[in-house]
Amino acid sequence: MIEAINVIPIASATTADAQGRSQPVSDTLHRPMRDLRISITDRCNLRCTYCMPRRIFDENHGFLPRAELLGFEEIERLARLFIQLGVQKIRLTGGEPLLRRGVEHLIESLARLHTREGDPVEVALTTNAVLLAKKAQSLKDAGLTRITVSLDGLTEKTFRRMSDSWVSVKTVLDGIAAAQHIGLAPVKVNMVVRRGANDHEIIPMAEHFRNSGIVLRFIEFMDAGCTNGWRMDEVVPAREILERINSRYPVRQIGPNYAGEVAQRWRYADGGGEIGVVASVTQAFCHECTRARLSTDGKLYTCLFASRGANLRDPLRLGATDQMLTSLMANCWERRNDRYSQLRHAATVSTAGKIEMSYIGG
Ligand code: SAM
Ligand code: SF4
Ligand code: SF4
Repeated sequence: MIEAINVIPIASATTADAQGRSQPVSDTLHRPMRDLRISITDRCNLRCTYCMPRRIFDENHGFLPRAELLGFEEIERLARLFIQLGVQKIRLTGGEPLLRRGVEHLIESLARLHTREGDPVEVALTTNAVLLAKKAQSLKDAGLTRITVSLDGLTEKTFRRMSDSWVSVKTVLDGIAAAQHIGLAPVKVNMVVRRGANDHEIIPMAEHFRNSGIVLRFIEFMDAGCTNGWRMDEVVPAREILERINSRYPVRQIGPNYAGEVAQRWRYADGGGEIGVVASVTQAFCHECTRARLSTDGKLYTCLFASRGANLRDPLRLGATDQMLTSLMANCWERRNDRYSQLRHAATVSTAGKIEMSYIGG
C-alpha cells in the first residue's frame, strides 16, 4: 500500500501576488516546477515487460477502482493550481491514456488554460498508439499540441517480446501515420532499448524514421518500480547507441530546444532529420529536473523513483480551498531534494517501495 503524506494542508513559504495567485515555487536544489505529468489511468492494453510485467499485472492484479481515480474536473482544477506555481507544460500519460473514456474532453479543458505569462499551456500525450488511428482526429480537434508514441521494434517478434501482446506493429505504425496525416501535432517516437531484447533493432528503427519528419528518441532502460527485474548490464548506454548509429549514418550534436530538455539532440549529417537519446541512467540530469507527477489517484510525486506522494485528492474532496491545495503542493515541492538517478549507485539510496511507472506516469 502506498503511503500518503501531507493530508493536512500546511502553510508554505509561498505568498500570493496582487491578483491572489500563488507565486512560482523552487525546491531545495533551486529547481522550479515547470512540467506536470498526469497519469489518467493505471490500466493498459499492452504488458511491456519493462513496465507492467504480465506475471504481476495479471487478471488478479488490483487496478484502482473507478471512484479512486481523479475525475476530469478534479484534474482540471489541480492543473490550474499547478500552473499558478509555475507549470508550463502538461503531459497526459498512464498506463495507456487513450483507454480513458472521454480523454478528448479533458484535453479540451486543459488546452484552454494559460501559463502565468499568459501563453496557452502545452498539452502533450504519450501513448502506445494502439488506439491512435481511431482517435487522432478527435485529439487534434481537442487541441492536443504534442504527441509521443512508444514503439520498441519493427519486427513482430521483437515487438511481441517487448510488449508481451498480440497487437501488431502495423497497428502502431498506422496510428503514427494517421497522426501525421491529419497534422495532429509534432510526432515523436520513443524506443526503450534493452540489451539482448531489442538492441538489434536500433539501426532498423533509425533507418525507418530517417527522412520521415519524426524524431526518434532512444531511451535507456530504467529501474523504475520494483517489478521489471532491471539489471545494469541490460542498459545500453546512450553513448553506445550513438556510436552504433554514427557508424552507419554520421550524426552531429545540436543544442537543446529549451533549458532542461531531457533528450540530447543529434542531427544526421546528410540531412536525414533528427534523433534524440535520453540517458537517464548513464548521464543523469536530476540537477535540471523540473517535473512534478500527479498519479491516477491524485497524489503528487516529486520524482519518478519516489515511494511516497502527497495526497491531494482527499483534501480536494473534503472541500479544501484553492489556497489550501496550492499550499500543499508548494510545501511538497519546496521540500523536494530528489536526485535518485544521480545517486543510483550510492549505497545510501533506498530502492524499496518505488512506485510503478504505470501508476505515476512515465
Ligand atoms: N502507455 C503509454 C506509452 O507506453 O507510451 C504511456 C505510459 S508509459 C509508462 C510512458 C513511457 O515510459 C513509455 O515511452 C515507456 O516506454 C516508458 N517506460 C516505461 N517503463 C520504462 C523503463 N523501465 N525504462 C525506460 N522507459 C520506460
Ligand atoms: Fe503500457 Fe506504456 Fe507501460 Fe507499455 S510502457 S505497459 S504501453 S503503460
Ligand atoms: Fe527527476 Fe527523479 Fe529522474 Fe532525477 S531521478 S531526473 S529527480 S525524476
